[in-house]
Amino acid sequence: MAMDILKGLATTLRELGHKPTTVSYPEEKRSLPLRFRGRHVLHRYESGLERCVGCYLCAGACPADAIYIEAEQNTEERRVSPGERYARVFDVNLLRCIFCGYCEQACPTGAITLERIYELATMNPEDLVYHKEQLLEPVGSATHGSLAAWTAPLPERTATPLPERQGFFDGLEASAASVGQGHLPAETEILIGEADARGMPTGEKEEETA
Ligand code: SF4
Ligand code: SF4
Repeated sequence: MAMDILKGLATTLRELGHKPTTVSYPEEKRSLPLRFRGRHVLHRYESGLERCVGCYLCAGACPADAIYIEAEQNTEERRVSPGERYARVFDVNLLRCIFCGYCEQACPTGAITLERIYELATMNPEDLVYHKEQLLEPVGSATHGSLAAWTAPLPERTATPLPERQGFFDGLEASAASVGQGHLPAETEILIGEADARGMPTGEKEEETA
């Protein structure tokens, strides 16, 4: 027992004078990685129109079913977005959200991004369902948000989920192409022509007619 106390004191003495590895939050904020994903923000165009066109793609891509949208038609009298529709209701349930960023990847207009906003703690679970009024950036503001972080080159030694070789996936030579089930090389443009009309890939037609 006494030995344990002495060991503990020795550790304390050893660490005295070392720089602390903790930060004194909330007085001190830690610096966040470039691609940190926090709370969502809905963006506007410079014209003030909302970028969201109520297409539901983000909700469809969300693996946690955390986005609820009700879209409505724009009219000549009331135009909210440049598209046919806009999101009349846009809720994000941050209790369900896993901050994966699929919604911002799915959005065709750059309307939704996950920003460096992380101070979300509350005693009331209902406060964590964010509504459009809270998510939408204010009139007069037209930012692109964190999208710029994703167009920059990947930081060195970042794990890439995509295979860099054809016929190779997840560390195995077992993709459909490599085991002979696929016949179209990946990322090759397929032109619709006579061969396709007969249900045959263009490459095979060329071989057949040669
Ligand atoms: S970050 Fe992921 S889990 Fe959260 S709302 Fe977007 S798609 Fe859904
Ligand atoms: S945020 Fe983007 S993906 Fe989601 S409904 Fe609006 S336009 Fe579509």
